[in-house]
Amino acid sequence: MSEDYSLRSVQVSVSPLARFTQFLQTHGKRITEQRRLIVETVFSHHDHFDADELMDHLQGLIAQRKVSRPTVYRTLAELVESGLLRKMSLGGRSVYEHEYGYPSHDHLHCQRCNKLIEFHSADLERIRDAVARGHDFQVRGHRMFVSGICSECRESDEKKRLG
Ligand SMILES: [Zn+2]
Ligand SMILES: [Zn+2]
Repeated sequence: MSEDYSLRSVQVSVSPLARFTQFLQTHGKRITEQRRLIVETVFSHHDHFDADELMDHLQGLIAQRKVSRPTVYRTLAELVESGLLRKMSLGGRSVYEHEYGYPSHDHLHCQRCNKLIEFHSADLERIRDAVARGHDFQVRGHRMFVSGICSECRESDEKKRLG
């Protein structure tokens, strides 16, 4: 019997930008042009990224109007606080990904090229829940990273080795 490791999709009724705007309002802040640009860029597709990568991407989009580094860092922190983004620490790097509207999943992490491969396992969640029950522990979520070397990196190692 083989398990389906693909991610299930999650339906959301409110867009990330609308949700972020609400969050800012409850904190007495406004959605500025720069914040809007960052949210739209970050939510244009699902990816794992750090602040520098986002910064580079933003600079490429808007050659004239610069988004400052402090604004990027502050907005990323607000996006994490509002539950739109998830921040994880990976090999000393802070990496962000979508939390809002994105299914729970785990990662295979390539230690050579830093690639993250996402998967979801119902079996893994069953084991997690059984262990938690044994400790009378209420599960709110989990994060698993499997460390190793991806197939592409092993292939290029092999090519180098054979010269
Ligand atoms: Zn790799
Ligand atoms: Zn992920």
